[in-house]
Amino acid sequence: MQVFGLLGNPVGHSLSPPMHEAAYDALGMEARYLAFEPDPGDLREAVHGADALGIRGLNVTIPFKRDVLKHVDPDDLAGRIGAVNTIDFSSDPPSGHNTDAGGAVRALTSHGVGVSGREAVVVGAGGAGRAVAFALADAGATVAVANRTVERAHALADDVPGATGHGLDDVESLVAGADLLVNATSVGMEEDRSPVPAGALHADLAVLDAVYRPVETRLLREADEAGATTVDGAWMLLYQGAESFERWTGRDAPIDAMDAALRERL
Ligand code: NAP
Repeated sequence: MQVFGLLGNPVGHSLSPPMHEAAYDALGMEARYLAFEPDPGDLREAVHGADALGIRGLNVTIPFKRDVLKHVDPDDLAGRIGAVNTIDFSSDPPSGHNTDAGGAVRALTSHGVGVSGREAVVVGAGGAGRAVAFALADAGATVAVANRTVERAHALADDVPGATGHGLDDVESLVAGADLLVNATSVGMEEDRSPVPAGALHADLAVLDAVYRPVETRLLREADEAGATTVDGAWMLLYQGAESFERWTGRDAPIDAMDAALRERL
């Protein structure tokens, strides 16, 4: 029996357990995926304990993605982003990775949206914004970061090659000249709001919303009405999970089974 899991607090509503267990079922693997909720002060013990118990891999979510860096050996991308969402215990010390980044790019490319050469606007400079900004730049896009707290946008832009940092006042003009837009803020989650004025959206845009509850956010609805290509946040969630699965098992993820398990619960 192989054991995988998730470290977060809280983890009660996580969609990762059913998504990963659907993958194990589809491939006939003897494996379980469990959600663990350590006290924030016990993170080090949780990681070392998981290693000692032979757990194969852990995803990491709020509030541990940044703090867990200290307890693993981060790869180059996770180190640059400053956050780990996937621990692989097959190496000693355990290695840390960030599959939110690859998940965003695969969400786009699976919808026929190439990233290389794009003029991209990333709204948000928190954990998701950092992962997406590095991922898009690494894949060959030019990135403009806009954030409510403008200092965070500047700090992120300083770290990402070729990027520029802005406040939210610039979003309208940035989006007018862009062909890729990613919402990496929590705006639109559980409320009918968009971080981008509807009038700025246009038919030459591809729009990815990292928010996946609800699946159809106001931003995606208005982008669709403007004729843009839209990609919802469940795709990013799916592909970050698929990339973790592939890293841990060395097998191609059964995307359709994982997607069905996810969408059934959203
Ligand atoms: P985070 O680190 O807390 O960052 C939150 C971001 O949202 C910051 O840029 C923050 O701006 C901005 N923000 C919050 N409230 C705002 C408001 N009222 N107006 C404007 N900006 C606001 O969170 P995170 O981990 O990056 O997550 C952000 C979103 O991405 C969440 O909805 C999360 O569920 C989603 N996400 C999705 C996936 C996926 O796989 N689909 C993966 C990761 C995250 P300030 O810096 O000014 O506070």
